[in-house]
Amino acid sequence: MKPAQPDHAAPADAQTRRAITPVICYPPETLPRPDLAACRAARDGWERVTEVLIPAREARCFEVPAGHFFRIRSVEGPQVGDLNLWNAANLAERFYSGKTRALHGTHLSTGDRMWTSHPYLRPMATITDDTLDWYGFDAFGGSVHDVIGTRCDPYTHNLLSHGGQYHHCCHSNLTRALADARGLTLAEAEGHVHDVLNVFMCTGFTRDSGQYFMKASPVRPGDYLEFFAEIDLLGGLSACPGGDCSSEHSSDTATCHPLLVEVFRPKAPPAGWSSPPVNGYDRSHGQ
Ligand SMILES: [Zn+2]
Repeated sequence: MKPAQPDHAAPADAQTRRAITPVICYPPETLPRPDLAACRAARDGWERVTEVLIPAREARCFEVPAGHFFRIRSVEGPQVGDLNLWNAANLAERFYSGKTRALHGTHLSTGDRMWTSHPYLRPMATITDDTLDWYGFDAFGGSVHDVIGTRCDPYTHNLLSHGGQYHHCCHSNLTRALADARGLTLAEAEGHVHDVLNVFMCTGFTRDSGQYFMKASPVRPGDYLEFFAEIDLLGGLSACPGGDCSSEHSSDTATCHPLLVEVFRPKAPPAGWSSPPVNGYDRSHGQ
């Protein structure tokens, strides 16, 4: 946070410097764009092939073949989900929250993509429908589906609670789920857990101090976020112990609900679509 009383006096031209107009770092029109119309057309006659219920304060893994769709659905009450995605054939290639944020902004919606880590850096999933797209940004600067938070974790909780031990943070839930899905030890699995897409969570930064905030999610049963799998995916989804994240997480006090993951197989892939190759940088790094 910035100090309330700065140590250093502002220079004479401070207002001039502050008044410089910002430029968008990564204009979206410079990115390869998904063919949303083709993706949506591919949903006609699709078949639901998998359904995974994520119990409250737990996580589960699920697989989505390239060219399939999946939905994360609110089923019983307002509930936030923490989503990890990996290349199903290579856990080292995983969702890159920070670069996705730089490319698409703090909160994702239809047409945005989830990008993978270096050195792969390619779209792994494209958001094809979002029933909460009406929310936009509220008066506090809050919105849903952020890539600014990380995931609730027991290490931060331990620090903030002066020694507390809580085992159902999303970090631990995802660790157990991945260990179960892939036959890994907890220590092996933990290293693959990464910063998440906060599905349905309503967050922002306070305008005056830039602090990360959360507020009750506007999600209601029936709402969903829909993705198209650009590559073979392994997903991990945790039904956060924060419930709708209106008060606190890292405890069992919030009211929590399950989440539903549904995987759909289209009759045919979207017209003109092919699974994106890994990044084209030659990795010589100037040598
Ligand atoms: Zn959480």
